[in-house]
Amino acid sequence: MKIATRTALFLFALGTGSVIFAESAPLVIAHRGASGYLPEHTLEAKAYAHALGAHYLEQDLVLTKDDVPVVLHDIYLDTVTDVARKFPERKRADGRYYAIDLTLAEVKQLQVTERFNAKTGAPVYPKRFPAGQSTFQISTLEEELQLIQGLNRSTGRTTGIYPEIKQPKWHRAQGHDISKIVLPILTRYGYATRADACFVQCFELAEVRRLRGELGWRGRLIMLIEAKSKGEDGTDNNQLCTAAGLKELAELVDGIGPAIGRIVTWPAAGAAPKVSDLVTLAHAAKLAVHPYTIRKDELPKNCPSVAALHVALFSDAGIDGVFTDFTDVTVAWLNYSPAGKALKKRP
Ligand code: CA
Repeated sequence: MKIATRTALFLFALGTGSVIFAESAPLVIAHRGASGYLPEHTLEAKAYAHALGAHYLEQDLVLTKDDVPVVLHDIYLDTVTDVARKFPERKRADGRYYAIDLTLAEVKQLQVTERFNAKTGAPVYPKRFPAGQSTFQISTLEEELQLIQGLNRSTGRTTGIYPEIKQPKWHRAQGHDISKIVLPILTRYGYATRADACFVQCFELAEVRRLRGELGWRGRLIMLIEAKSKGEDGTDNNQLCTAAGLKELAELVDGIGPAIGRIVTWPAAGAAPKVSDLVTLAHAAKLAVHPYTIRKDELPKNCPSVAALHVALFSDAGIDGVFTDFTDVTVAWLNYSPAGKALKKRP
């Protein structure tokens, strides 16, 4: 493994004991933080995921009007905040509210809540944190990096970061170059080389080329691969998953982050999982594979249980890490289930 040979041992405390975690072992990436338990991408969700033992914490990044990267999943504000109530006049003709139309000072006035349907107001995950309860804010990339590095210091652990450049083509069309703004911040906080605990991720192939070329990013890089065949920016996702596509990608990136459905599917209820050749092909190209996303409250079609999903991804397909909304569930499966424990004994 390209990545494993480059990195040091990380120490993780887990429960009352502590375990040595080598980065060659499967990685648990907290998807938008502990988003199964707290509103996604809030500092609270990140602190909780850190405490639950995630190896990496994910940041989705978009820009404000005044070019400050904030941690937010969408270019929109209207599915996780009260923007429609606080800034009704900022609605665009398409009915949406965009982070790029508000300054940071304005974004900071918004209350973040559990993700909801902007049209109906209904929560996307009804069993998660109650809508509108307590008080949460959108944070800047820098505020989040300071939180993570502070927790790393106070706990003695090294939890890494996993920032995603969101919709760079769209940002540029709006007159804002997000990658150019984000990379220097990462570097300033000590994330610059492949030895640093950071994976930059992006869905757009042209931008991934630009990150490695024009923008000179020398840290780890992950090409995200959607389930659908064509990305909005024109990225040919099916081609990327071929042996030739992966070989080409290996010149640019350290790994891929495909949708789970590109690796494993359940053809029918009660049927055995069907594993694609994607992980085998990626490993042959020396690429790590970190699929997204494990959600115990939204399993893939016909998948019988969250444990079965872990077995199929880690034991059957042989992935190197996973994005999970439920850090504790994935950490527990890796550390305590017979299949998870067997995995770590692999040569
Ligand atoms: Ca993401």
